[in-house]
Amino acid sequence: MKVGFVYDPIYLKHDTGQHVENATRLEAIISHLEKTQLKQQLIPIKPGAASIEELSLVHDKQYISHIQDVAQKGGGWLDADTIMSPNSYEVAVYAAGGAIKATEAVMDGEVASAFALVRPPGHHATPRRAMGFCLFNNVAIAAKYALAKYNLERLAIIDFDVHHGNGTQEIFYDNPQVLYISTHQYPFYPGTGSIDETGVDKAKGTTVNIPLPAGCGDAEYLPAFEQIIVPAARRFKPQLILVSAGYDLHQADGIALMQVTTTGFAQMVKIIKQLADELCSGRLVFSLEGGYNVTALAASVKATFDVLLGDTNIEDPLGQSRHRFAAPSITQLIKAIKEIHNLP
Ligand SMILES: [Zn+2]
Repeated sequence: MKVGFVYDPIYLKHDTGQHVENATRLEAIISHLEKTQLKQQLIPIKPGAASIEELSLVHDKQYISHIQDVAQKGGGWLDADTIMSPNSYEVAVYAAGGAIKATEAVMDGEVASAFALVRPPGHHATPRRAMGFCLFNNVAIAAKYALAKYNLERLAIIDFDVHHGNGTQEIFYDNPQVLYISTHQYPFYPGTGSIDETGVDKAKGTTVNIPLPAGCGDAEYLPAFEQIIVPAARRFKPQLILVSAGYDLHQADGIALMQVTTTGFAQMVKIIKQLADELCSGRLVFSLEGGYNVTALAASVKATFDVLLGDTNIEDPLGQSRHRFAAPSITQLIKAIKEIHNLP
């Protein structure tokens, strides 16, 4: 089973200073993959720069020039959370290009599945706006690229980052070719992602939001995956599955209040992989979004690769949270989402 990964030191050059979204995230992932000798089992995929035409599949040309301008003028804050350095435009163009290359490698059959280890992340970026540490929407660009280049009719994006992918939702809200499913802490940043946001017109029902209360862990995420994501994907029959893989729902991550363990991530990835095997010949592409405790991030990304490689022996160096609190019941929530989406 060939599993690919996209990485390039250029991704370290998006210099955010003391920001939580910084280069140590990718450095920790790569050094952990090396130390555990997993990296040598993976097929390296070289990223390239996305072209303006490719970025324009999702973003307005004016917005793209604006990001380029800010970088040329030395960088700065785009909003309260999102900062750019002089190299950030180029890095963001390579992040989008990395997601595209990972998708190409899978679609062309060079690898069975792939993971784009890129930054800055993408799922909050809208066609005209940077936000939430995101400049270009890497997964949305890869999705539009795959639809066009491979003439696909349908693909699914599963977004398990702890934040709602408002940008991705907005981009595909009226697009019946893309099923967007998100699990996220709610209410929480960025505020969107309620159960009744389901898409418009012909795309009604192709946005599936699973807004979870703070405190959810493996015991809540796994039923949400099994009871909503699995039947929604089966009904939609995607020809490719893209994953906005954020690891900030880890119990050790300080940015949010979820309690998912490294083992929990492995189980979630296993469900997604089984869906890809069943529905689209295994075609599966991950792209990195959040995850800010670098130890938890590195262990969880490794667990993701382990599952993609078919390894069932998952190491969990962090275990359960030492400050566990009782998760609220999500039985009623799951029932309500099933009703809204008419799921079996
Ligand atoms: Zn996030």
